[in-house]
Amino acid sequence: MIFRNLKIEMTPSQGYVLSKKINEKWEVYYTISGPIQKGCKICGYPLKNDEECAHHQGLERLELNYLIQFVGYYQTDYTGNPLNKFTKRIIKMRIAEGQKYYQELFLILNTLFKNIKKKINIKWGSWVPTSNQLLLRIAQNLILDNNLIMVNPLEIIETDNQINRIEDKENYVKIKYKLKDSYNPKISQVINNDIGIIIDDLIHTGYTIGRIFEIIQEFHPKKLIGLVFVRTSRGKHPLYLKYPNLP
Ligand SMILES: [Zn+2]
Repeated sequence: MIFRNLKIEMTPSQGYVLSKKINEKWEVYYTISGPIQKGCKICGYPLKNDEECAHHQGLERLELNYLIQFVGYYQTDYTGNPLNKFTKRIIKMRIAEGQKYYQELFLILNTLFKNIKKKINIKWGSWVPTSNQLLLRIAQNLILDNNLIMVNPLEIIETDNQINRIEDKENYVKIKYKLKDSYNPKISQVINNDIGIIIDDLIHTGYTIGRIFEIIQEFHPKKLIGLVFVRTSRGKHPLYLKYPNLP
C-alpha cells in the first residue's frame, strides 16, 4: 500500500516494513515484526510459558464474542521516554502533537484493518469516544476506506467528561460511559447480529474498550473486534513491536 511518500509492505513472516521516499528512493523507515507466539489470547500481553495473564481485568466480565487486535507494544522507560519509534508516535498522538504522523499511522492501522477484513466479514465500524482529533480522523477514514457503515458512538453513548479519575477503574468507566436513554432505532438494525470494529489508540487493562463493548452488547452484535494501535507492556522484552495473530 502506497500513500504519497510512504509505503508499507508485509513481510513473509507477517510483519510490516514502512519505507519513506527520500530523494526519489525508497528507504526503510522502521519495521514491525511478525505475530507473537506466546501472547495472552484475550489481550495479547506477552507471557512466559504457562504464565497466567493479569493484564486484562477490564475484559474479564464480558460475555460477548470479541477479539482484540493491535499493531505493537507501547513501551517507555521509567521516565516515560519511548523505547521504540512507534511508541514515540503514539505518545505524540495522545498529547495531540501527532498530526504530522497522520499518514503513517493511518497506513499502518489500515494495513492491519484490511488484513483482518480479508478473514472476517465486518459490516460496521465505530470508535471509543475521544476528544483526540487525530484519532477521530484516523478512525473515520478507516471506516470510509473500508466501506463499512459508520456508527458514531455519540449517538448511542453518553460521555461524562467532568468526572475525575478515581482509583476504581471499573466504576470510573461505568460512570464515564453510559448507554443513552434514547437513540435512533436504525442503529440497532445495523449492529444487530453483525460484526463490528471499534477503534482506539491504546489498551492497558481493557477497562475503557471493555466498557464500550459492554454498552454495545445491548444491541446484540455477532462479534466485536477491538482494533487498537498499541497495548502497554511493562519492562523491556524482545517482543516489542509485534502484534497478536488472528485465531
Ligand atoms: Zn490478557
